[in-house]
Order: sequence, then structure tokens, then C-alpha cells
Amino acid sequence: MVMYVTVNGAERNRPEKRKSRTAEAKMEKKICGICGKPTEDTLLEVGEHENVCWECATRMALEAKAENREIEITDENGDACRLCQWCEELFPESELRKEIDLGYLCDRCIAAIHSRGETLTLKY
Ligand SMILES: [Zn+2]
Ligand SMILES: [Zn+2]
Repeated sequence: MVMYVTVNGAERNRPEKRKSRTAEAKMEKKICGICGKPTEDTLLEVGEHENVCWECATRMALEAKAENREIEITDENGDACRLCQWCEELFPESELRKEIDLGYLCDRCIAAIHSRGETLTLKY
């Protein structure tokens, strides 16, 4: 009985120390307010949600797109983020270009469309 208490006590003490250190580490890491996962990426603001990871923001943007809703996504600097209309990945607006018919496209998709011999009319 006494042995058990000692063992339990010792076991309980150690993880507690480790836990507080993990908590500190987590403070430095950013936690997504939607999925609760830590991320090293920039956290985004999606509509009224703050601290949304890139993954969740992409999912929310896709949901909004499927429902034809407008959704506002901004990064830490207040810059807008949008989905590339082709690969449906989320990018900061500064990394996308707007094509007159297709909408926002990332460089990779623009290159892919170009390589198929199609002409794009890009707005800068
Ligand atoms: Zn998330
Ligand atoms: Zn793309």
C-alpha cells in the first residue's frame, strides 16, 4: 500500500513537471481556435473566427465556395487570403493573380494553364 502511494506520487510528480514545460512550449506555438492543433504557420482570421490554421481556413473557404458564400480571410498583417480557383489551395492575395474569366489563380496553375497553350488575361 505504502509502496503504491510512493510510486504513484513519484509518477504523478514527474509528468506534472513535464506538463508545465509543454504548456510553456505551447504558449509559443500557435494553437488553432477551430481544430485546436498547434501550428507553426501563420494563423488566419476567418470571418469572426480569430486564430484559424491554414488547414481549417482552407476548409472553411471551400465550404463557403460550395455554398456560394463570400468569406473574408485575412492573415496576421491584415492581408486578404483567397483560394486559387484551380487547385483550391489558400494563398495570400499577393501571391495570386486575377484572371478575367477564371478569377484568382496561383502561379503554379497559371504556368500549368499556359503550358496547355491556353491564353490567360491577367489583371495585375
Ligand atoms: Zn485548424
Ligand atoms: Zn492554384
